[in-house]
Amino acid sequence: MTKTLSILGATGSIGTQALDVCEKRGIRITCLTAHSNDRLLEQQARKYRPHTVALVDEDAAKRLKTALKDTSIRVLSGMEGVCVCAADDDTDTVLTSVVGMAGLQPTLAAIEAKKTIALANKETLVAGGALVTKAAKDNGVRLLPVDSEHSAIFQSLQGMQHHTELKSILLTASGGPFFGKTRDELAGVTLEAALKHPNWSMGAKITVDSATMMNKGLELIEAVWLFGVKPSQIEVIVHRESVLHSAVEFADNSVIAQLGVPDMRIPIQYALTYPERYESPVKKLSLTDYGSLSFQKPDEDTFRCLPLCRSAIERGGLCPAIVNGANEEANALFRQGKIGFLDIADLAAGALDAVESKDDYTLQDVFDADEAARAYVRAHIG
Ligand code: NDP
Ligand code: MG
Repeated sequence: MTKTLSILGATGSIGTQALDVCEKRGIRITCLTAHSNDRLLEQQARKYRPHTVALVDEDAAKRLKTALKDTSIRVLSGMEGVCVCAADDDTDTVLTSVVGMAGLQPTLAAIEAKKTIALANKETLVAGGALVTKAAKDNGVRLLPVDSEHSAIFQSLQGMQHHTELKSILLTASGGPFFGKTRDELAGVTLEAALKHPNWSMGAKITVDSATMMNKGLELIEAVWLFGVKPSQIEVIVHRESVLHSAVEFADNSVIAQLGVPDMRIPIQYALTYPERYESPVKKLSLTDYGSLSFQKPDEDTFRCLPLCRSAIERGGLCPAIVNGANEEANALFRQGKIGFLDIADLAAGALDAVESKDDYTLQDVFDADEAARAYVRAHIG
């Protein structure tokens, strides 16, 4: 159970909801970090009184330092500053809620400093899964999932005696705003339409990933690393209501699932209070209000990012890092209006074919593969 928490990515969707949970549960905040949102970080610092804050952007950090000069709060800058917050002596748990594989270095810094990790930042596990899980094992550190599906799987696994009892994982997907659309219909979709998620309010990058179903592909890879299963043991099921957050099937064909209204404060709180449970401000689930829940197979011919991720993790090595890097770049270009919606999957698939992978990799190899994949995307737009 967390007593002191450092939040990496405090100004985002997960970070702000985590602060809400901490306030209600009396968890003390030690450090807060963000990229460049000095205004919100200042407000959060004044309210939650961490001893240290950090901004990656140097100019934003300078502004924050000036703004907080009437306080004793230490202001750091750059990725080094974020890594200091990740390894802080006064902290027992680090919530990694940075978006993108920029979270990889601070996550490793937190693990090396033996902090419990509440992990929201899935791209870190996708790009550097072997490094992160090995470091966690070597340092005796727990990776507690925050992603709602992985929290559901983790909750469903409580009480399992042996890993051999776990037969498969049923990973649910909302299907996003474009479920049921054809490739022709998807060709011209706008950013505005892609940002209208039916069930969840999240940061822009993950919302676009949900529309392409890249998010489910990344989550499949995340589940492989978190739960030590083969990709073939994971079945993706479209469940439009986002009430059943995922399930596990055991050796005897029993299926255990976790259900609840779609609200990230449940999985965030469970990661922070694990193994205990407490009341939460989240609305109670009324199954009779829903009446029925639906389950369907995903359309992998239309939403090609999903089979692409499955193929990347089956090939292993740096392949997931390549798909992730290409997607980060393509997702950003789509949000800037520079490429079309269907280009995202095409560019990620092209990068996976073009960029060289290798089975055993170092941190530098991950950064190099990520950069090569991004460069491929930049070279192939238009
Ligand atoms: P947001 O975009 O809302 O927030 C991202 C946070 O990371 C902000 O604090 C941002 O700071 C910071 N940040 C951005 N870029 C960098 C960088 N290069 N280096 C350091 N910090 C950076 O994202 P979300 O909260 O939606 O998502 C965070 C992570 O959690 C993602 O990996 C996502 O996949 C995962 N997740 C999110 C869910 C959700 O409901 N939102 C659900 C499940 C998983 P600034 O504000 O200054 O830019
Ligand atoms: Mg999720």
